[in-house]
Amino acid sequence: MMQRRMWILSLFAALAALAFFQAATDAQPATVKQIAPGVWFREGEIDTLGHCNNAIIEMNDYLVIVDANFPSGARLTLQAAKKVSNKPVKYVFDTHHHGDHAYGNPVWTEAGATTLAYKGVAEELKRYEPKRWQAEAKVRKDVADLKLAAPEPPKQTFDKSPFILKDDTRELRFYFFGWAHTRGDGFVYLPKEKVLCSGDAAVNGPFNYTADANVANWPKVIAAAQKLEVAHVLPGHGGPGGKEVLDGQARFMTELHSAVQAAVRQGKKLDDIVKKQGDKLVSTSIQLSAGVKNWVGDGLPDQVRDTYDEITQHKPHGDIPH
Ligand SMILES: [Zn+2]
Ligand SMILES: [Zn+2]
Repeated sequence: MMQRRMWILSLFAALAALAFFQAATDAQPATVKQIAPGVWFREGEIDTLGHCNNAIIEMNDYLVIVDANFPSGARLTLQAAKKVSNKPVKYVFDTHHHGDHAYGNPVWTEAGATTLAYKGVAEELKRYEPKRWQAEAKVRKDVADLKLAAPEPPKQTFDKSPFILKDDTRELRFYFFGWAHTRGDGFVYLPKEKVLCSGDAAVNGPFNYTADANVANWPKVIAAAQKLEVAHVLPGHGGPGGKEVLDGQARFMTELHSAVQAAVRQGKKLDDIVKKQGDKLVSTSIQLSAGVKNWVGDGLPDQVRDTYDEITQHKPHGDIPH
């Protein structure tokens, strides 16, 4: 009996070690990985530099980059692109308006590329800027060094989804499926290679940011993306994965919304479910299932507050002044 228990305990210890090992090797910041012929994924250094991930996609005569990144991330990605292909960068697609995805636009314009986005990205920039740019320039040298008063909007926008680029090499479809992380969330889909670049509408890890979001609508946006045939998901943050990244992201948002809704129905106030230290939220009593633990991190109390405000004020969090 004792021996059996010891064996079970050591099996659990081994499994736990394995799980830790897998999680630890998932993230490979600053590396470039080939996903399919002519398709590369560069994982951004989020912890140290705040960078997003980038995709580098080779067409017949040119390259398409997914996300402009911050200015310093744009330069690193441009270097990475030069290493994998000698073709020029023609388009850079901003998946959304956040600084870590769009503030590098001027770097790409100077390099001769055309920045491209769904029209909702340009509209979000009008809504939130130049306030955020000016705040970022105070803490980020790469933003300050551009000596601009405001972010550079995408040079080309489209409003009919999907916008398509196609040549003999491959087809790229740029989709808008609705308001999830921001009002402008764009996806890039490669039907032949079954690759989906999801921006921050689907991340692989505890990287969700809900301030500009529509939490209730988020799973519906993912559901539209899940209708595509997908083998590879290249998220805005975290390592590359498969369809499980979409499934987990949707499940996280669904669980977050329903757990907060249940607390609201029980008559709980915001102070009952999140704990403050100064003006920072440090913990929450809201618990989600083990199935979404990959998405649960230090940001959970903020995500709970945003969802609470969304539910009690009956409008998407992004529509509440913030
Ligand atoms: Zn974002
Ligand atoms: Zn991001």
